[in-house]
Amino acid sequence: MASTKATAAPSAVAKETLAYCTSCKIDLAHLIVSMKGDKIAKVECKTCKKTHGYKAPKGVTEVAPKKKRASKKNEDGSPSATTIEAEWEKLMSAHREAPFKGYTMKSKFILGDKIKHPTFGEGIVGKLIYPNKLEVIFRTDIKVLIHGGA
Ligand SMILES: [Zn+2]
Repeated sequence: MASTKATAAPSAVAKETLAYCTSCKIDLAHLIVSMKGDKIAKVECKTCKKTHGYKAPKGVTEVAPKKKRASKKNEDGSPSATTIEAEWEKLMSAHREAPFKGYTMKSKFILGDKIKHPTFGEGIVGKLIYPNKLEVIFRTDIKVLIHGGA
C-alpha cells in the first residue's frame, strides 16, 4: 500500500446544520462558518443572520434534565407507614385531652374518639362510615372497625 493520498475530510463549511441559536433562543437552521477539527466551531443563523459559536440543538441534547420529578413516594423508602404515623401523631396531639375508650363492637364512637384496641393499640377515629363502621387511624395502619353493634 503505497498510496500517500491524504484524504482530508471534506469541509463542512457553508453547509447547513441544525443548531441552537443564542439570539433566537431556539433550534434553527444555521450555516456552518468555520470548523475546528471535525467539530463545528461557528455558525450563522439563517433566521437572524448572526454568527455565533456553535451550540448543539437543545431539542437533542437537553431533553433529559427537565423531567426530574420522580414520584415522591419512591424516594424515601416506606411512604405509607410514615404518612400514617405522622397523621396519627397529629390527631393524637390534637385530641390530647380526650380519654381512651376501650374498643368493643358494641361501643358507640364518634369522630375524634380515642380508642384502645386490644390488637392494634391506640388509635383515633378518623371517619365514620354509615351505618356502623369506623375508620380508625392507628399508629402504623388504618383499620375499619365495626361499632355500635345492635
Ligand atoms: Zn438566530
